[in-house]
Amino acid sequence: MDTSSGVRELRKQAIEDLTREGRDPERYNVNGIIRDAWINGNGSAEVWRAAVDKHRIQFLVGDTVRVAVEIDGFEEYLYGRIEEFRTADNRTYRRRVPNPPSAYVELFERYSGALRPLSEITPEIDDFEITSEHEEVHRGAPAHNFGIFHCASGIHGGYTPPADVLVIHRASGIERRFCNDCNNGGQRARLGHQMWWDRQMCRDTIQELTEHPEQITGPADDEDADASRRWADAFPYLVPAKAAELYAQWKEHRGAA
Ligand SMILES: [Zn+2]
Repeated sequence: MDTSSGVRELRKQAIEDLTREGRDPERYNVNGIIRDAWINGNGSAEVWRAAVDKHRIQFLVGDTVRVAVEIDGFEEYLYGRIEEFRTADNRTYRRRVPNPPSAYVELFERYSGALRPLSEITPEIDDFEITSEHEEVHRGAPAHNFGIFHCASGIHGGYTPPADVLVIHRASGIERRFCNDCNNGGQRARLGHQMWWDRQMCRDTIQELTEHPEQITGPADDEDADASRRWADAFPYLVPAKAAELYAQWKEHRGAA
């Protein structure tokens, strides 16, 4: 066996092993794994494992990701797709490189993109908590619907399948139920954008409560106070910090009284 066919054999073996472990070989620097695990390393399970962890490629062109973008003084989470990797001085690479410093992300909901160091790019999936536990997914479903929630993606035509998963956007706590087909990066990105859309819609209320946070603790017969409390209950993730603090105290006092 000459050297090149030997290397080919090792590559084939490594790709088989990765696939058997349920990994996508595309997301790994296979040559690096071979070098660390089998050429320089003793090939033990631990050494293989360490090499696999080390040589995982976190981002690929086409991945759905999230970046933070400042809009109207707020740091909004916007989702998009990695268009290409860039050098430190913002040039395009001609071929694949192991550790590009930055990437250009084409944003789904804006006519622009965002250039960010990889350290400021988050795989979209990290923003969500996903459960497929039947009891949790369908807790509170109406009895007249046989105790089942349906997929809420809105893309189904005549028949909407039951939900398979409950997806929670960690930053806002907003939840949505999807069938397995709809539990994908595009639908999750729409869910992730909800917080930003809600904030745009509620701009006046947010400003009002930023300037007059004490309004939220007004008496029960005060219409404005009552309206801000109802708003805070509907959009807890949008309540300005000071107003949220006062509202929490107000609720505590009321509970005690
Ligand atoms: Zn669906």
